[in-house]
Amino acid sequence: MPFTLPELPYSQDALAPHISAETLSFHYGKHHKNYVNKLNELTANSPMANESLEAVIKKAGPGPIFNNAAQVWNHTFYWNSLAPAGGGDAKGDLAKAIDKSFGNAADFKKKFTQSALTLFGSGWSWLVKKPDGSLAIVETSNAGTPITGADVPLLTCDVWEHAYYVDRRNDRAAYIEAFWKLVNWEFAAKNFAGR
Ligand code: MN
Repeated sequence: MPFTLPELPYSQDALAPHISAETLSFHYGKHHKNYVNKLNELTANSPMANESLEAVIKKAGPGPIFNNAAQVWNHTFYWNSLAPAGGGDAKGDLAKAIDKSFGNAADFKKKFTQSALTLFGSGWSWLVKKPDGSLAIVETSNAGTPITGADVPLLTCDVWEHAYYVDRRNDRAAYIEAFWKLVNWEFAAKNFAGR
């Protein structure tokens, strides 16, 4: 099977109490894994099976192969956007860029929270670096991902219901609060610096 489920960067209980081990067992162990399995099924005996995940996402066009490939990529990026010792505010050059684009850290958080809260249906909120170096908050629906365009993703929050229903039922706002307790600014800073 050419496409594999990357290991989580922490144990399944490491994000508790903000995101439970039970959520991770479903979200990572079933949803993310299922996207990998589906992608392998859909690309079996196709030249796509020899491509990188990123290449498949960029070439596939709308449809099941794109949906499953992009969901594999988005989820791996999401797990890295969280960390057991995360939270707080960005530091260094990224903090300066946030201030420049959003005013200050609090205004950025407010705007990102609003994006994640009001995104209709299933999708993702992203902090991205635009080609001109400025930062922006963008939303993608379903499996949509910034890597099909010119923006460089720095962080993401999965707002599909499966990301929070086990812990929070329908309370997306409580899940987004939990997201801020775990947000991995070191990962975002590496993406911002292009490392
Ligand atoms: Mn998800």
